[in-house]
Amino acid sequence: MMIEGKSVYSGVAIGRLAIYHKADNQVKREKISDVDAELARFEEARNTAKEQLAGLYEKALKEVGEVNAAIFEVHQMMLDDLDYVESVINMIQSQEVNAEYAVATTGDTLSEVFASMDDDYMRERAADVKDISNRVIAVLQGKGAGGLNADEPVILLADDLAPSETVQLDKSKVLSFVTRHGSTNSHTAILARTMNIPALIGIDYPEDAEGKMGIVDGYEGKLIIDPPVSVLETYQKRKEADEEKKRLLLELKGKENVTIDGTKINLYANIGSVADVASVLANDAGGIGLFRSEFLYLESSDYPTEEEQFAAYRKVAESMAGKKVIIRTLDIGADKQVDYFHLDKEDNPAMGYRAIRICLDRRDVFKTQLRALYRASYYGTISIMFPMIISVNEVKEIKKVIAEVKAELDEEKIPYKDVEIGIMIETPAAVMMSEELAQEVDFFSVGTNDLTQYTLAIDRQNPKLDNIYDSHHPAILKMLKMIVDNGHKGGCWVGICGELGADTTLTETFLKMGFDELSVSPSMILKVRQEIRSIELK
Ligand code: PEP
Ligand code: MG
Repeated sequence: MMIEGKSVYSGVAIGRLAIYHKADNQVKREKISDVDAELARFEEARNTAKEQLAGLYEKALKEVGEVNAAIFEVHQMMLDDLDYVESVINMIQSQEVNAEYAVATTGDTLSEVFASMDDDYMRERAADVKDISNRVIAVLQGKGAGGLNADEPVILLADDLAPSETVQLDKSKVLSFVTRHGSTNSHTAILARTMNIPALIGIDYPEDAEGKMGIVDGYEGKLIIDPPVSVLETYQKRKEADEEKKRLLLELKGKENVTIDGTKINLYANIGSVADVASVLANDAGGIGLFRSEFLYLESSDYPTEEEQFAAYRKVAESMAGKKVIIRTLDIGADKQVDYFHLDKEDNPAMGYRAIRICLDRRDVFKTQLRALYRASYYGTISIMFPMIISVNEVKEIKKVIAEVKAELDEEKIPYKDVEIGIMIETPAAVMMSEELAQEVDFFSVGTNDLTQYTLAIDRQNPKLDNIYDSHHPAILKMLKMIVDNGHKGGCWVGICGELGADTTLTETFLKMGFDELSVSPSMILKVRQEIRSIELK
């Protein structure tokens, strides 16, 4: 039997199917005689639940990183929420009912309120309110949480999984998560990515699947129940090949990016959203070398506000816990069109009104982003990088805007930190001016995607020219060397954040040229690390 759904993380899992059973929190309404004693029971259970959550937070922090652990902090705060606590207390006092019933009813009512709200974030809180209520009820009833009956590792089938449920699972017993509900960005999906195991959503499995043999095909988004031997063998081979690759790479977590003869290089990750931080952490990147901030604008139906941007940048900075986070300012135009900017149609958009050109023209938009970035800088180690630079004058102009922003923040007594300023080198003009540009900034990051397009005069979007779009062209390699040398002369550190940075056939060349950093997609970190560690330069 084969059931199709959606994959949220690839890979293959083969094993017995086990259905996750929710904690049994059947609650009866009971009349109580001693209101004060019942209030004390509630208070004690609430405190125990908070202690449990603090423990879960610590556990999750170690296992899945700060971003994924944050939910348990949110739950602790929800247990202190006055509306929630007062509602339970009022019910116990006015209706003289048992604490379990008051907690369950409050949980249901608030969760319905959240569920009906016109805001994705608030709707997600509906599940959280139920989750915390179930926890308090379990404490009141002296029961443990629900769970999984398995002696061997299994493919876990569930309706949906709350974060508190997943974190309590014995991870060594889970081969894959398969849920009926949940979304690509659900905590379970993030956890699966972090655990590096396949996960499917939207799979309406039958209840009699329990105990049967199953295959999760995380490439195609399929669950196969009771597979014939031939299918099992095919997947077994695929899984073994995957595992060998994974095993070799995972051994590199926690290791340095150092060549055999001791040359080190920073290996950072490229991201497009806050959610990507999970895989940055899972793949052990040393920092974020390129956060394409335009995705915040692309996902939005109107200009993202300073507060919205601040929240996103702060979250990334905090999640990276002091490691470097390089955020690139808005890089729209050309292939990245945003409706609400109402940009004119251009004959030659790649060479048109885009990136820093728009920002220097639309100061309101630019300042909003810079204010958000500087405010967020206080919460971690943020660097700011500017795209599509062609001249020293542009950088001087940018620095004027930064000075204005800082003056405003000083005036408003809003704290910010010293922020490293860098530019992308992705136009031939910037390469030729790199000696002068290095005097103005702290670092360079080479955008080889655009640098190739502008140097070879080949539209990077044109599939007809794919065969001659050659980032290994000697012109590009010569430029790379020139950029490193000029950058270093001017006291800048120099990295690559274009796709070429992850090309392991050139890793040795980059090291020899003297690059200080490579920023690649999170899933490429360990591969590039493996390559670096196999190189002997001298
Ligand atoms: C580049 O041009 O190499 C780059 C990293 O930026 P983007 O791909 O976002 O244009
Ligand atoms: Mg670019």
